[in-house]
Amino acid sequence: MQQNRLNFHPILYKENTRAFLDDVVPHEVSHLLTWILFGKVQPHGKEWQSIMIHVFGRKPDPTHQFDIKGVTRSFHYRCECDSYALSTRRHNNILRGAQYKCRKCSAPLRMTKEAEAER
Ligand SMILES: [Zn+2]
Ligand SMILES: [Zn+2]
Repeated sequence: MQQNRLNFHPILYKENTRAFLDDVVPHEVSHLLTWILFGKVQPHGKEWQSIMIHVFGRKPDPTHQFDIKGVTRSFHYRCECDSYALSTRRHNNILRGAQYKCRKCSAPLRMTKEAEAER
């Protein structure tokens, strides 16, 4: 928000392009506009709702109705020189004792705090 930047999930976009453009983008852009215009207010309050209605002509629905079950999760790992997003399968292998090494620095990949929280 502070950088006026929005990140959208690439897999959700690919799987739900239509709904994404119709709902998610207006929803999130409205959040951004709400922040720029009104600062700290209720996230889905009257300011956000009026932007949804007047800027995008959308019925304001505060929930993103998306099935994110199909989205592949990734787990964050690090070596000495880089960071990696590992698939759930590789992550599970590591939990069972497998070790993956960085091709560049040959240090074993270590789970970052984020990944541990997702476990
Ligand atoms: Zn929202
Ligand atoms: Zn490395």
